Amino acid sequence: MADTAPMLIDGRETGAERPPIAVRDPATLEPLGAVPAGTAEDVDRAVAAAARAQRAWRFTSAWERADLLHGVAQATHDHADELLDLLTREQGKPRPEQEEELEWSASTFRYYAELGRHGQGRVVPSAEPRTQLNLVVREPYGVAACIVPWNYPFLLLAWKVAPALAAGNAVVIKPSELTSLATLAWVRLAFAGLPDGLVNVVTGYGDPVGEALVAHPGTQVVAFTGSVATGQRIASVAAPLMKHLHLELGGKDAFVVAPDADLETAADALAYAGFLNTGQVCTSSERVYVPRARAGEFAELVAERARALRIGHGTRDDVDMGPMIGERYREKVQGHIGDATDRGARLVTGGDVPDTGLPGWFLAPTVLADADHSMQVMREETFGPVIPIMGYDSVDEAIDLVNDSPYGLGATIRSGDTLLVKRFADEVQAGTIWVNDPLTDNMAGPFGGMKLTGGGRELGQDGLDAFLQSKHVHWDLSQERKDWWYPY
Ligand code: NAD
Repeated sequence: MADTAPMLIDGRETGAERPPIAVRDPATLEPLGAVPAGTAEDVDRAVAAAARAQRAWRFTSAWERADLLHGVAQATHDHADELLDLLTREQGKPRPEQEEELEWSASTFRYYAELGRHGQGRVVPSAEPRTQLNLVVREPYGVAACIVPWNYPFLLLAWKVAPALAAGNAVVIKPSELTSLATLAWVRLAFAGLPDGLVNVVTGYGDPVGEALVAHPGTQVVAFTGSVATGQRIASVAAPLMKHLHLELGGKDAFVVAPDADLETAADALAYAGFLNTGQVCTSSERVYVPRARAGEFAELVAERARALRIGHGTRDDVDMGPMIGERYREKVQGHIGDATDRGARLVTGGDVPDTGLPGWFLAPTVLADADHSMQVMREETFGPVIPIMGYDSVDEAIDLVNDSPYGLGATIRSGDTLLVKRFADEVQAGTIWVNDPLTDNMAGPFGGMKLTGGGRELGQDGLDAFLQSKHVHWDLSQERKDWWYPY
């Protein structure tokens, strides 16, 4: 067994003696190292350290906090090569995609460093304006629990930790057990300039570590990105404790090719939106609607792009798509493909394990035609490199099909028909609408979902507000006795 990378609690490396969780390269299945299987006791120590650090951090000036957060961004860049190598081996997607993730993650710290400088409170009218002040103060919750999945381990951490810190909270991070090595390295290398205890990382399984963090009386806010099932579990633990919850859960994003759309560029856009990160993006285009008469032709255009993708280890320059993260994830995707073909879908390309010469969790980019809503692949989150295509007869039907889903994260339409696009944006139940350019997020625009995807919003001002609560201060400056006090 390779060395165990320690957890980071209260500015110290700790816990290497705990039972190890092996971390493997999903392309080669070779061990990369191990992380400790943390315990509820580790969570107690981390929350106590965070609470101590937060007392001082809350009253550290916003500009001093901003400088320190810019320092995290700078140190991230300074250590980029080392971090990117580990991240690529551990998570699997090709290096250019990891570079983009690291760059975005550093920028998120810069963005919230600046946003945090701006005052958040306001003064509201008083009953006695000459002698009273009524202040609405925006203050941090205290300790934020940040629970992160494996598909964008740095980015989804940054979207939580940067605004939480900018708002004056301390954090305890629970990374995915599949991608904890790179997270530990990042926090060790890039967050060292922050006060001890402000940022803690407890590694381990969802149960007990994630669950102990959610249930801990010292964590007032829980920011979680992950599956619907885990989100539901977290909500059931947190609700009786009245925790503030920000849930960013699974999706089943639709991609609509409008009647006026050019099929070639729509196929380019869809190949990107469906196969990026091997389809393991929460906003992957996972179901596609095309005018019925053009659906067969379109499926062939997308399949051409799928067949052209070069599959292999993410560290190689000549690779477009890496492996999936693990066996059970690949099995689920293969199950969806099998269910679809059993119910009448046509396998246009893919569906098999490509010959890469590596033993990892590869799956060929797959295109299915003649899909319909009886199939799992159109109803449940697939989270793999599969693009199922369904024909529609009218735009009314297309919009109904998009909304016929329990999820509501994002949706894309390819069209230059402005009235149709406006209608799509008005009527589709999703947190983000992409018109022609799928999966392009914006630091200043809120990101999150509707329906089962959860109501959390990250990025922009909303992302900072998620870590602030309002307090009303009614302040009588005069100290006079009031006429309405007893006795009348
Ligand atoms: P997951 O729900 O299995 O795990 C996410 C995190 O929760 C991990 O750190 C895990 O250890 C932890 N966890 C597990 N059980 C827990 C419990 N009982 N209490 C507390 N924490 C617990 O998800 P995953 O497989 O790591 O990630 C893939 C999922 O994430 C997909 O469903 C995807 O759609 C979703 N996702 C959503 C967004 C979004 O912004 N909406 C972004 C990325 C990924």
